[in-house]
Amino acid sequence: MRVFVNPGHDPAVDSGAINSDYGVREADVVKQAGALLELDLKQAGYEVQLLQSDDLDAVVTAANNWLADIFVSLHCNASPNHNARGTETLYYSGQGRVLGEAVQKNILEKVPTIDRGCKERQGLYVLRRTVMPAILVELAFIDNTDDLEILENELPAFAGAIAAGIDEYFKQVAYDRR
Ligand SMILES: [Zn+2]
Repeated sequence: MRVFVNPGHDPAVDSGAINSDYGVREADVVKQAGALLELDLKQAGYEVQLLQSDDLDAVVTAANNWLADIFVSLHCNASPNHNARGTETLYYSGQGRVLGEAVQKNILEKVPTIDRGCKERQGLYVLRRTVMPAILVELAFIDNTDDLEILENELPAFAGAIAAGIDEYFKQVAYDRR
């Protein structure tokens, strides 16, 4: 099975959201999370292609041309008052919802984070333009001190949970096809 991993925001040109108190950038956090996820997935026998780029068309084209079975984008959230917290997983299609729910459930089991749910989101380019089931995981709020602590301490747990959710999804798909 082929998993396309897309950490958001090219660190060379785009910080993504930032925590200005601690000087932590979303692009760096999700780069690290993507590398951990790639490792976990490869150890579990998956083929992985990873691309972190601000050229979203290139990202979508790479995933579609590779015939990825699923697409997983990684981001961190931020809020205007820095008070919002928690993890949410966004999807576009019906199968994306199945994948997203499995991933969100595993994250809540393995990471001490707040549940913001698994939500349909129509407007996200990488979800809309990829042809395979696709999700975007907002790991936590980088601009919130408590959530930042979770990001800094639990990144391997996040990666392991996402990999476990992906595993669960493929087992579910195989079962449904019997
Ligand atoms: Zn982002």
